[in-house]
Amino acid sequence: MRVVQRPKPKLMQSLYFIDIFKGLMLTLRHVIRNILNPDQMMVVYFPEQKKELPPPTRGRHRLMKREDGSPRCTACMLCATVCPAECIHILAGESTDTAIEKYPERFDIDMLRCVYCGFCVEACPLDAIRMDVPEVTVANYSREKLVYHKEFLLNHHNEDYVKNYNPPRPVIETHGPLARP
Ligand code: SF4
Ligand code: SF4
Repeated sequence: MRVVQRPKPKLMQSLYFIDIFKGLMLTLRHVIRNILNPDQMMVVYFPEQKKELPPPTRGRHRLMKREDGSPRCTACMLCATVCPAECIHILAGESTDTAIEKYPERFDIDMLRCVYCGFCVEACPLDAIRMDVPEVTVANYSREKLVYHKEFLLNHHNEDYVKNYNPPRPVIETHGPLARP
């Protein structure tokens, strides 16, 4: 067996002075360059400026609506069951439409617990919940305001964010005119 000896560092190398100095010079060079060319700085002045997010970005949730404006959701609880953060709370009510058994009387998402995993979107058999609103800033002055209620989640037009929705999924219609026999 051949033992490979480690070379002993020289005194200057073991003190790391030269490397520290090189690092500082690199930082200083960037600082001076950015001060002299502020327009070329790769900085986004958030929140005044917002970066456009690429289409696959998971943003805020929204609940999809039927043509009459009612939620597509049938309170099946699949999303709430699959959610690893247990942040979806649904109170099911009995629907007056005989073709639909239930509807969400309440549908709350606690955004402070949500980990943006997208499992709820994947689990929904009706494409009733999407995460395509390009808002990823969850900030407010109270915790209560970060629990998004049904009315807020429904407050949009279905087409508003369709360009950002990726990938599109087929909707399984279980009721209504497009229902499969
Ligand atoms: S994105 Fe994930 S954590 Fe957030 S509500 Fe959906 S399943 Fe829960
Ligand atoms: S999985 Fe879809 S239909 Fe079922 S409760 Fe969640 S949003 Fe509603």
